[in-house]
Amino acid sequence: MAKLNHPETNIGGAKAVPFLDLAVQYRALKGEIDQALGPIFEQTSFVLGPAVQQFEESFAQYCQAEHCVSLHSGTAALHLALLAVGIKPGDEVITAANTFIATVEAISFCGATPRLVDVDRATANIDCEQVEAAINEKTKAILPVHLYGQPADMTALKVLADKYHLALLEDASQAHGAMFDGRPVGSFGQGACFSFYPGKNLGAAGEGGAFVTSDGKLAETVRLLRNHGSAVKYHHQIIGHNFRLDSIQAAILSVKLPHLNHWNERRRAICEGYDRAFSTLAGISPIKMDSRALSARHLYVVETRDRSRVEAVLKEQNIGCGIHYPVPVHLQPAYAELGLGEGAFPQSEALCRSIISLPLYPELSESDQERVIAAVRQASSLFD
Ligand SMILES: *Cc1c(COP(=O)(O)O)cnc(C)c1O
Repeated sequence: MAKLNHPETNIGGAKAVPFLDLAVQYRALKGEIDQALGPIFEQTSFVLGPAVQQFEESFAQYCQAEHCVSLHSGTAALHLALLAVGIKPGDEVITAANTFIATVEAISFCGATPRLVDVDRATANIDCEQVEAAINEKTKAILPVHLYGQPADMTALKVLADKYHLALLEDASQAHGAMFDGRPVGSFGQGACFSFYPGKNLGAAGEGGAFVTSDGKLAETVRLLRNHGSAVKYHHQIIGHNFRLDSIQAAILSVKLPHLNHWNERRRAICEGYDRAFSTLAGISPIKMDSRALSARHLYVVETRDRSRVEAVLKEQNIGCGIHYPVPVHLQPAYAELGLGEGAFPQSEALCRSIISLPLYPELSESDQERVIAAVRQASSLFD
């Protein structure tokens, strides 16, 4: 996860430009959050209470979907969505090698085999030609990740899912409010999984997630699975889990949701500023936007000719940064079992070696952005 440098820390003279500052957002919403939390303590309805139901209704509407089932985390959403579409031991699910490990863990939790494929170097999103090449008689689902907030090519993936009769689920953990070809994420296949981890575009004050779908049967299955297989207390239809969202998180998310579109617009404006500044810099290439995608701009990521140099200059100037992600999934010890070594996915591996994520959050000030730009410019001038 990202480094959360605190803005007030003052190392080496220059005031820090944090990679992410969640406290500014909290200060702006403190009154509303306090007001929303009081009733939960008064009603002592901490689990699956009215605040949860209310948030589910608003988030479904926001996603232009029929149903939202809130969950304890994005990982839980991925896990239950896969179970609900029937993923079981022996099945294969296709996803990208360059993602946060949770996407792939969820496949493993179902006893299924993750079938990783490489990404497109320009967009860092799943390479649809490789998806088709990976499909075989064991394949049951495609699970694209909308990396950094930019939707994968859902039009192409929908064609493949239809052609080969596969489930299509979206990992939209980084893509709240993103669109592709004018359609919201989650509307292409069976549904989308969201994370409300604090640093995400819509973040809780703890863990949270959701599965969003317009398929009533799937929503019902995920609803049962998240609550011990139970719709009526102490009556259990299936073996489930305890993956419920708590009311406190739901209330905080309901306070934040009305601000999400504005926040995403701010993110896009900041990214446009970065894009303009970096367009002429040697050895700095921002991840490309597909013209059909409206990205939620969760992260601003550039490929660099020499990452250690960029990191050194940023560090020297007290500017935060991150790497998303330093090691592709197939080279993680946890997935040694896949038997895929170095060289299996050259584009993912090259990205992991060269990318860096720069400070990006809706409240990032213009002067802080200028400092980031100046530092990257300086690093670029030092490339060999
Ligand atoms: C954050 C994230 C997840 C996991 O979400 P949690 O809420 O932390 O469980 C899954 N996939 C991607 C791509 C993510 O960024």
